[in-house]
Amino acid sequence: MRIGLIGYPVQHSASPRMQNAAFAAVGLTEWTYELWPTPLDALAERLRELRKNHHIGGCNVTIPHKQNVLGALDVLSDHARMLGAVNTIVKRDGQLIGHNTDWLGFLADLRFNGFEPVGGQRALVLGAGGSARGIVYALLKCGLRVHIVNRDAARAHSLAHDLHPLGTVSAITTMHQAGAIDLIINCTSAGMDPHLDTTPWPLDLPFPRQAFLYDLVYKPRQTVLIQQAEAAGARCAGGIGMLAEQGAAAFELWTGVPAAQVAPVMRAALG
Ligand code: NDP
Repeated sequence: MRIGLIGYPVQHSASPRMQNAAFAAVGLTEWTYELWPTPLDALAERLRELRKNHHIGGCNVTIPHKQNVLGALDVLSDHARMLGAVNTIVKRDGQLIGHNTDWLGFLADLRFNGFEPVGGQRALVLGAGGSARGIVYALLKCGLRVHIVNRDAARAHSLAHDLHPLGTVSAITTMHQAGAIDLIINCTSAGMDPHLDTTPWPLDLPFPRQAFLYDLVYKPRQTVLIQQAEAAGARCAGGIGMLAEQGAAAFELWTGVPAAQVAPVMRAALG
């Protein structure tokens, strides 16, 4: 069975390495994970091929197509519909079913790193782009109270407005307004290669040492933000484990093999 990654560009993706390692580890020797670079003008043809080729069982979807594929699918999971974004497509009985495993991957890796999200905790989300939407969704599902702060404040307001039916979420204009916080999640691309010297946390504001920092950025592993948090004595985790866990959740959807069984293989494949 063939599985692939639809996006553009995709050549630097680590997904083939971790998915193929997992296929091998569970004895699915006929399964392969491929890169399917797909510019926007080739998306419709790519989805037609996905639908009609019996050797293809599904795919992952990444930037810039997580929203673009919505209208072409037969069924959306409740989560994908609420998030307005699909990162995994499964083909069942000729139907294309859209799922979102990014938010599941975040929660799994947060727990793996020793932070148990529970109702009543307060979280501060930095950023209001595509990933922030999934993170805020995950946090509200767990009953946390969420503040969002973003460089472009209007985007933070719009995200809070969209997800407020799910729980307590508000946009704030500076980190200084956040008050006591249990969990800080960086969903900005500040610090991500090649922006190695940037950080979303103001240099003149002490990082709260009681908070747990989860930085979605995974390249480099040690961001300036993680250095700031560590210097303050806070506990931290980078985003590489989320990459593995969202992949493991997708693997379960395609193969039926539990995510928990393959997540360690995927973590090891990412190094
Ligand atoms: P988007 O492009 O959708 O959003 C980018 C966000 O970063 C916006 O909120 C933007 O603010 C903010 N931003 C960019 N540069 C700066 C800066 N210098 N200072 C402050 N804020 C800044 O990206 P995504 O949400 O898809 O991804 C964000 C990061 O998360 C990326 O580094 C990505 O690699 C990582 N990621 C990791 C995953 C994992 O599995 N670990 C999964 C998904 C993403 P504004 O709105 O003002 O422009």
